[in-house]
Amino acid sequence: MTTPRLEIDLDKIQHNTRTLVEMLASRGISVTGVTKAALGSPEMAGALLRAGVSALGDSRIENIETMRLARLTAPMTLIRTPMLSQVNRVVEHADVSFNTELDVISKLSSAAQKTRRMHGVVLMIELGDLREGIMPGDLEDTVRKTLRLPNIALKGIGTNLACRSGVSPDSKNMADLSALADSIEATFNLKLSVVSGGNSGNLQWALSGAETGRINDLRLGEALLLGREPLHRQPIEGLYTDAITLVAEVIESKVKPSQPWGEIAETAFGATAPAADRGRISQTIIAIGRQDTDPDGLEPPPGIEILGASSDHLIVDSSNRRVPVGTEITFQPNYSALVRAMTSPFVAKVVKSRSDAAPVPACQ
Ligand SMILES: *Cc1c(COP(=O)(O)O)cnc(C)c1O
Repeated sequence: MTTPRLEIDLDKIQHNTRTLVEMLASRGISVTGVTKAALGSPEMAGALLRAGVSALGDSRIENIETMRLARLTAPMTLIRTPMLSQVNRVVEHADVSFNTELDVISKLSSAAQKTRRMHGVVLMIELGDLREGIMPGDLEDTVRKTLRLPNIALKGIGTNLACRSGVSPDSKNMADLSALADSIEATFNLKLSVVSGGNSGNLQWALSGAETGRINDLRLGEALLLGREPLHRQPIEGLYTDAITLVAEVIESKVKPSQPWGEIAETAFGATAPAADRGRISQTIIAIGRQDTDPDGLEPPPGIEILGASSDHLIVDSSNRRVPVGTEITFQPNYSALVRAMTSPFVAKVVKSRSDAAPVPACQ
């Protein structure tokens, strides 16, 4: 089979998703399944929908268009504030978008009027992580102006933490979001149907038994695909952490010194730390590199240690074991390695499901 390839087990993704959908349902929270790390794969999106997510979310309009082309009719939310240059596509393909800029909402309104559609808007609030969001003190003014725009429906508010600065979702910032929802409803005499508390980083808080207040939706990507919570990257009990693996092939296998010789300057990717002297080692080269994935985010199988990587070569120490050329090595990618591999045209995507007789190639 072709290498390198991502092997994607749909049954495991479906199990992970169903488990979290059920756990969160008991806390009054629905799940928006985030497909951005799946590159909008209709097969993967289908697994999330079968497992009970209430909507799909993606940060790229291109991925939403891919899923629409595959005739997925589920509600879809663009979870990054739209580019002005893409408002027409957003209104055409996404039911709802996350927004922080009145200029953008105003252009969404014009685009929606032109095509006689309604477009839903969720206003994102800054609660400390310093990525996207309206400052809480500016929310009321933004709501007032949003409500005046034709063909725009204010669906709710949301926040995103734990992405840029690592600020953890907790009882305090989630209570702040709930209070903002209450206050907007009281001030404007309306009902916000969505209060979207965050991403996989919110799971610890949501499942801790803490008061969930007005939070009624979480947007989950990493937890569904990799079975881990991103705050401490611990496996979530009852979920598979190997639903997606990355398989690559050995192209050189030699015994070499562990230290380079000659005068040492920078490499193609900047300065490197000096190699430890471990005498002669079994140095194996695997045909995958920085063009295909994030080598720092790969967990190798036992007995293999990653020593370095360049654009096309991953160099490993295979602990005194000669690994013949042609051998396939299976790695566990983290989120960063997964996203890079998913978007690399050099990495095949092979979707497996128990119901299939044989693995079927997907995406490309
Ligand atoms: C990527 C993203 C998510 C999903 O994050 P995970 O950590 O993968 O669950 C949720 N919300 C927004 C705004 C995102 O950009």
